[in-house]
Amino acid sequence: MGSAQAQNGEFYLDDDAIGAAEATQQALIDTQQRLGMMLDIMPMGLLIHTEQGILFGNQEACRMLGVRKEELVGQHVLDFVDPTEFDAVMNQLQRSFAEGAEVINKETLLSAGDGPPINIKLISARLPWAGTPVIQVLFQDVSDLKLKEQSLERLSTTDELTGAFNRRHVFAIAADCMENASVSDRDLSVLLLDVDHFKKINDSYGHGLGDQALIALARCGAEAVGPEKGVFARIGGEEFLVLLPGLNETAAAAVGEKLRKSIGRIEIPTNDGALRFSISVGVATRSPEDTEFGKIVARADEALYEAKNTGRNRVVVAH
Ligand code: GH3
Ligand code: MG
Ligand code: MG
Repeated sequence: MGSAQAQNGEFYLDDDAIGAAEATQQALIDTQQRLGMMLDIMPMGLLIHTEQGILFGNQEACRMLGVRKEELVGQHVLDFVDPTEFDAVMNQLQRSFAEGAEVINKETLLSAGDGPPINIKLISARLPWAGTPVIQVLFQDVSDLKLKEQSLERLSTTDELTGAFNRRHVFAIAADCMENASVSDRDLSVLLLDVDHFKKINDSYGHGLGDQALIALARCGAEAVGPEKGVFARIGGEEFLVLLPGLNETAAAAVGEKLRKSIGRIEIPTNDGALRFSISVGVATRSPEDTEFGKIVARADEALYEAKNTGRNRVVVAH
């Protein structure tokens, strides 16, 4: 066993002691290399970060941030965060530096390299190390999950054939609007649209062409209403509902008239030339007694019925 010996007031290590120290140092280097290798194959980005900047990043962090390992040290994770998320992430990091080992988890956007921003989960926590505060920052790429989430959201809120919103979606929005409207006494109107003599289109030109007409109608209708003004939804075969929050009867009837005219100009090419068709529209507005959305829809339906019975291709406001 080697030992340190005092000679003239100074300590010297004998050969055995030097060998042991070297072995210990080598073991440390090996451990560090092994740890580094383990961290590199982790499927998550990992940074060790001081308040000034990055001390260490694993391979996945370099890939996600679009930099080489030797470029990473000294940079700051905020350099790679999408500008829209800067304040929120800065806040999170400050909390992690200040608040000990509490793990903070937030979805955010990384904007590294020239590619589009990527959705990530950013997980940060302070490491229980003495001295300069150090936090660990983990990135999990959630862009695939996000895409799946968006596609599920689209599937559950839209109609497959036309891409318009579906019945479930518009009724869910309407329920929220009814609550807000009763609290703030805000206007709320509904249009019901039904294609005139649609059976004839199917019978004369086939179901496929009927479908094309519905697709064109939905596109034209959603465009004419505009997402900021209302929700354009297909609620049945060739029946559509337009929810117009904040619009009174007169304004809603004007939207109905605009829709009637724009849809009337659609041309569907057929072997016999361009096919045109018309719609009838029923309009109803929330009154203070309305507690259920269905009541307003029922009045719009009566108005639509009247439009059909008085010649079609017209807008009728419920009494
Ligand atoms: P009206 O003017 O009284 O509304 O007459 P109409 O012929 O349009 O009568 P109605 O509204 O009852 O007809 C609806 C027709 O729409 C019946 C059905 O075959 C057709 N239809 C429903 N869904 C679809 C669809 O997805 N595609 C096609 N091509 N036709 C559909
Ligand atoms: Mg119908
Ligand atoms: Mg019809």
